[in-house]
Amino acid sequence: MHNYTIAELIKGLQNNEFSSVELTQHFLDRISQLNDDYNAIITVTGEQALNAATLADQRLSLGDAPAMCGVPILHKDIFCTDGVRTSCGSKMLDNFIPPYNATVVENFARDGAVMLGKTNMDEFAMGSSNETSFYGPVKNPWATDSVPGGSSGGSAAAIAARLAPGATATDTGGSIRQPAALCGISGLKPTYGRVSRWGMIAFASSLDQAGPMARTAEDCAILLNCMASFDEKDSTSVDKNVPDYTASLGNSVKGLKIGIPKEYFSEGLHPGTEVAVRKALADLEAQGAELVEISLPNSELSVPAYYVIAPAEASANLSRFDGVKYGYRCENPKDLQDMYCRSRTEGFGEEVQRRILIGTYCLSAGYYDAYYGKAQQVRQLIQQDFSDAFKSVDLIMGPTCPSPAFKFGAKGDDPVAMYLEDIYTIATNLAGLPGMSVPCGIVEDKPVGLQIIGNYFDEARILNVAHQFQQITNWHQQTPEAIS
Ligand code: GLN
Repeated sequence: MHNYTIAELIKGLQNNEFSSVELTQHFLDRISQLNDDYNAIITVTGEQALNAATLADQRLSLGDAPAMCGVPILHKDIFCTDGVRTSCGSKMLDNFIPPYNATVVENFARDGAVMLGKTNMDEFAMGSSNETSFYGPVKNPWATDSVPGGSSGGSAAAIAARLAPGATATDTGGSIRQPAALCGISGLKPTYGRVSRWGMIAFASSLDQAGPMARTAEDCAILLNCMASFDEKDSTSVDKNVPDYTASLGNSVKGLKIGIPKEYFSEGLHPGTEVAVRKALADLEAQGAELVEISLPNSELSVPAYYVIAPAEASANLSRFDGVKYGYRCENPKDLQDMYCRSRTEGFGEEVQRRILIGTYCLSAGYYDAYYGKAQQVRQLIQQDFSDAFKSVDLIMGPTCPSPAFKFGAKGDDPVAMYLEDIYTIATNLAGLPGMSVPCGIVEDKPVGLQIIGNYFDEARILNVAHQFQQITNWHQQTPEAIS
């Protein structure tokens, strides 16, 4: 059963081939057998899952249940879950049990999906390797000496190891697409505002966006149908009709104009990754798509602009963790100042503290214009590059990341090398555009991803092309050797 896609599981549940309780128990058994090998899941909610599955079976037996009814999934531990610890990968929130569900979690619960547990992640979603988690690193099921990517590495690894058929994730600078690529699965970052951020612990509020991860584009479409909604509780949520993302999956790619940014194929791209991505583009061309070379001239400014804007917003967002209201508090503080200082020093890891320092510095009087103001201007230029490009092309494609999964520790001492992991993904967040990664090859025994970027609210077209690509290739069906 763990090799079925979500689409297949839905059919099986609706045709009574197996019950949600059986399915849920099957995944819970796999999690208890295999999770120690990967550390992908940090909280398992077995009893709650079986209760939800029982209710889902009742709903299914009445007929007319929503598509996700009875399907087991995992939530990234950045989404607040009522009565279930939500740590955000940090010691700071190791003891935090929210009294409410995030809207995304609520949407899945409304439709009867079954939460199996919460996935490991980089601390406060800061990272590209899952090495910054308080709960230890996640191992890549394709090669356990290598990282799964981050920050949604737990969700990606869990799907690759068949511990769940789908999961939620978030992407501030690449955290859905990069781990999806490194673990050989599919993942979509929707347009900013498409999915509610309410109850999702904030990292950089103008960039954060939640999205689905699964093995196929079709499954991502099914998950997005459930996740996307207008939410009055999130002031940046967009009040726009949510289409049925599965309805257009069958459209042909004939005549589609695909822009290939020359900046995405320059120095720094692993030659094996380049070959795989170019082959994928040729496959789409053979189906009738037209490839057009384009330029996104300000691409190289995206990483520096991001590493001013994201830390600036993070420093403001993380100021709420002060040892007073909730979260970690140091022992025996001498006075108020000592409590603030030690609670934050002991509760936050090194990377989080680095970002808070950078962000506070960039926002200080005297530096604000030089750094933050400048970065916002660069952000405008990047956005303009994309809107110019979308005047002549329907989609933009290139690699998701520069290379296949790297080994643990390989970039640990060099934050800048780590930051460059997101060189192809960050611009999309700065512009607020949707982007997806789908598996497109195996390089050095590890998967690599093709990135598909669309115009605002063009998720249906991205998913359609991704699905068509998966009809003519089988990269999404490859399984890590250790997994059966
Ligand atoms: N790797 C990037 C960072 O560390 C992006 C993380 C994310 O998308 N959450 O900021």
